Amino acid sequence: MSEFSLIKNYFAKLSPLRQDVLLGAGDDCALLRSPINQLLAVTTDTLVAGVHFFADMPPYELGYKALAVNLSDLAAMGAEPAWVSLAITLPTIDESWLAQFCAGFAELLKIHQLQLIGGDTTHGPLSITITAHGFIPENQALKRDAARPGDKIYVTGTLGDAGAGLKILKNELQLAETYATDLIDRLYKPMPRIREGFALRGIAHAAIDISDGLAADLQHILALSQVGATLYVDCLPLSPALNQAVDKKQAWQLALTAGDDYELCFTVPQAKEAKLQQLEITYTCIGVIEPSPGLRLQLTTGKTYDLAQQPGYQHFG
Ligand code: ADP
Ligand code: MG
Repeated sequence: MSEFSLIKNYFAKLSPLRQDVLLGAGDDCALLRSPINQLLAVTTDTLVAGVHFFADMPPYELGYKALAVNLSDLAAMGAEPAWVSLAITLPTIDESWLAQFCAGFAELLKIHQLQLIGGDTTHGPLSITITAHGFIPENQALKRDAARPGDKIYVTGTLGDAGAGLKILKNELQLAETYATDLIDRLYKPMPRIREGFALRGIAHAAIDISDGLAADLQHILALSQVGATLYVDCLPLSPALNQAVDKKQAWQLALTAGDDYELCFTVPQAKEAKLQQLEITYTCIGVIEPSPGLRLQLTTGKTYDLAQQPGYQHFG
């Protein structure tokens, strides 16, 4: 099969059609109409086999996750996703693999009514680069530099599950099948918090999606906002499966340092607390922003908590 029939058979007819796409995949460029009075939010993420995922990862989940991690960045900005492009490098043309990859990718396109507007298809080691475009009204973006002393710190969902799922795949952790499936599912099929990011417009100050672990990602907010924080480790939201898998200390360690959760961490000023409480989203208060720099980990008793290892994966570390 040629590159062209591959594009035609698999990628060109994947997604819902949107009215703001004047010309989609198939020409030299896509032609798109941005809404008046909104900013275009653009983000790119690459997933490389052997670095971001095991080369034998099930293709459906890979297609899903490659898109999910990009949508998660739009969510963390408060943006409403619209258009996606896909640059994929394939070692071989395996039609059953491609069909499943496309089905996983299409699941999220359909949920959020996004159109695949183009991309590139090349031969080489397996790698997937996605660019996602969304819209956000001016002055409503949830930027990393917007946290202020006195803001409470929140996270959506539960933390550490994907990290435990990875340990299960690496045979570093054994547990009952149902819990193991839950945790691996959280690693393979993160739910981008689009609805939550959207709801937090005009309420949250700063936000970030947790891809490298809470401690590392929260520190990006602290550095850019020129503030510090105290986190209450015993307030971190943990799932029943994670509590079943490991003891409390290990669960906290995973929640603080393991990547791939794709939950949102956000800060909310006192004045917006009442509005936050009216939202129908799930979140947990885990700490507070303070003027003095640095991230301080504590128990709610006031006792200091030490991280066993440095947070955050670094590609050139
Ligand atoms: P060009 O040589 O002009 O870059 P390509 O042969 O790379 O064109 O792509 C032809 C058309 O197919 C373009 O519109 C491109 O956006 C689209 N396309 C290529 N690969 C993909 C893909 N993986 N998913 C969606 N569209 C794709
Ligand atoms: Mg090309």
